[in-house]
Amino acid sequence: MRTVRTIAELRAALAPARGGRIGFVPTMGALHEGHLSLLRAAREDNDTVVLSIFVNPTQFDQAADLAAYPRTEERDAELAASAGVDVLFAPDAAELYPAGFATTVRVAGSIVETLEGAHRGRAHFDGVATVVVKLLLSVLPDTAYFGAKDAQQVVVVRRVVADLDVPVRIAVRPTSRDDDGLARSSRNTRLSPDERSRAAAIPRVLTAIAAAVTAGDADAEALCARGLATLVEAGVAPEYLAVVDPDTLEPMRAVDRPALLVVAATVGATRLIDNVLLAPGGRR
Ligand code: AMP
Repeated sequence: MRTVRTIAELRAALAPARGGRIGFVPTMGALHEGHLSLLRAAREDNDTVVLSIFVNPTQFDQAADLAAYPRTEERDAELAASAGVDVLFAPDAAELYPAGFATTVRVAGSIVETLEGAHRGRAHFDGVATVVVKLLLSVLPDTAYFGAKDAQQVVVVRRVVADLDVPVRIAVRPTSRDDDGLARSSRNTRLSPDERSRAAAIPRVLTAIAAAVTAGDADAEALCARGLATLVEAGVAPEYLAVVDPDTLEPMRAVDRPALLVVAATVGATRLIDNVLLAPGGRR
């Protein structure tokens, strides 16, 4: 595995790989099994696998969150090498945002205004869109791999790639979970043991609602109201729990077609997000 820090080095490292298939996994590091599942998919489908690790300052809405974001670069490099990564791109902020940087990829409309956009501010997805475009243009992969855990990010990235005609296939991999169902996240390392066990209520609520929907309950409002109450009882502070259209992220009142159940909640000082697909069934 080669570690490169500049776009020029990255391009030089990838020049001999052009012509073969290049798979790319963009991350903010503090690698866990969720990232590794993306790397495994990339390894399976491609001749060359590129991993980027960049804690993108422009997508953080809170300086404290950025400062506290876990950074474990040495361990990440070991994990990446054993996952079969060929090129690790780990630039610093000045490489991606040099002095005079003035361009932002701005996505408009409800897909960035709702859910995470509403809670974190629209600058969050501008930051995501801008860095993803920069990374995609630097790597020029055939396929870029993203996790279903960040469902809204996937919707935004698909929109950006389509709108800007970026020639890349977007592959989405399922959410990787711990044994108790909690979605793996770099932020989970910040949870105390007590918070960690309270956080397990999040996937429990998602699973219970998904089961109720499969059994024929289609009343999104009532299901979410019960779910919110369960979260609060468990010591989790929900920000939103909503049933939305998987493509437009518009709210759905009746779960009469496949839908996405999305949640954001704070446990202690840690904000967590998760989602599951809802497949209606039963008596309809
Ligand atoms: P991050 O480092 O948090 O920016 O995540 C990098 C990529 O890994 C994104 O595409 C995430 O959606 C994906 N990812 C993060 N956590 C998980 C998970 N538990 N399962 C699957 N993919 C994940």
